[in-house]
Amino acid sequence: MYDFLIVGSGFAGSVLAERIASKLDKRILLVEKRNHIGGNAYDEFDDNGILVHRYGPHIFHTNSSKVFKYLSNFTTWRFYEHKVMANYQNKLYPIPINRTTLEKYFNKEFRKDGYARKLLNSLSEKRHPILNSEDMIVNQIGTELFKVFFETYTYKQWHKYPKELNASVCGRIPIRVDEDDRYFSDKYQFMPAEGYHILFKNMLSNRNIEVELNTDYRSIINSVKFDKLIYTGPIDYFFDFVHGHLPYRSIRFEYESLRQEYFQPCPQVNYVDDSVPFTRVVEHKYLSGQKSNTTTISKEYPQFDGEPFYPIPTDENRSAYKKYKAETGELKNVIFCGRLAEYQYYNMDQVIANALKIFNKIANGK
Ligand code: FAD
Ligand code: UDP
Repeated sequence: MYDFLIVGSGFAGSVLAERIASKLDKRILLVEKRNHIGGNAYDEFDDNGILVHRYGPHIFHTNSSKVFKYLSNFTTWRFYEHKVMANYQNKLYPIPINRTTLEKYFNKEFRKDGYARKLLNSLSEKRHPILNSEDMIVNQIGTELFKVFFETYTYKQWHKYPKELNASVCGRIPIRVDEDDRYFSDKYQFMPAEGYHILFKNMLSNRNIEVELNTDYRSIINSVKFDKLIYTGPIDYFFDFVHGHLPYRSIRFEYESLRQEYFQPCPQVNYVDDSVPFTRVVEHKYLSGQKSNTTTISKEYPQFDGEPFYPIPTDENRSAYKKYKAETGELKNVIFCGRLAEYQYYNMDQVIANALKIFNKIANGK
């Protein structure tokens, strides 16, 4: 007999399991269909001893001191600021677009941020209201730079043009006029010092938590007794696709170990033109700070089929999700939490913050 059955061991499931086990002293069965804990944030050492992120680069960044403090219970940190370059016609440019990007692209020296700002003002095409990702970017940098740095990459990633996606998708990337070349601007930017797999292991070490791997919850749900269910998998699967399949974007990750110290000059290179079918190449040793004579890279090939990684943020998909959301109101003892269960393009810190909020409600009997 368990107090809670939790489906999925990503951040949503693991934060809730940890809080309920340690603060409420309740018994939990956590089931995970993969052969490891950690969801998409999972990392492991490959044959060459390089720590690799199995589901794409996961960089921890947040402005929430609450989230940072909470996670600090389970890991120490390595200061890490992510750096990304765009490869356009075999030349590299800093991403997000900043003063250096503009100088390189236009082959001019601006020296001061004010000149870069003036240039962007002259290039930008005012769009009002901002209805989609194309409006969002063209409004800031104009059509030419939008086409070079956003349009093709976005199409490769989503199989949709920016004008078909909500403004928030490309809006994740700031446009800068200074020389700041960090990918994120958040207050806290760190990596778990020993990797995410250790962080998750520490979170789930409470003796009130039993973890069962390689188990789809459907195969055990009728044979275990529990009071409440917390579900963090895809919401359409939970409801047997009664309102149809929600679209997700998947990715095939292709790993290569190379007998050289470094492959590229920075952790991530985005291939923003259509000369190659993959979107980005990540060199994993930058993320862990490891020193080695060999290196491991991964190339990302977006695809429709496969594990659902990205909910696709369009108005149409949001409406489809709402039909499922309405069904959840009928269920008294089921809580839905996380990127797949809420069909939201959340970062890790947003999922953790939501899980902590949900925990407070559970603790207050709401
Ligand atoms: P998940 O991590 O997806 O966990 C859900 C778990 O549920 C999975 O382990 C799954 O196997 C399990 N599950 C599903 N169905 C069942 C079932 N039927 N039975 C049992 N188990 C089931 N965020 C950042 O903050 N920074 C980044 O740099 C970053 N990079 C990313 C890169 C990529 C390529 C991707 C795809 C995401 C990235 N994210 C990043 C987002 C981050 O992965 C998510 O915010 C976070 O992992 C969501 O946690 P979750 O618990 O909601 O979902
Ligand atoms: N994007 C782009 N060019 C880039 C980087 C990002 O067009 O060089 C767009 C693209 O649509 C991408 C979105 O901005 O999906 C968000 O980028 P982010 O790096 O946050 O994507 P994620 O890491 O979540 O895949």
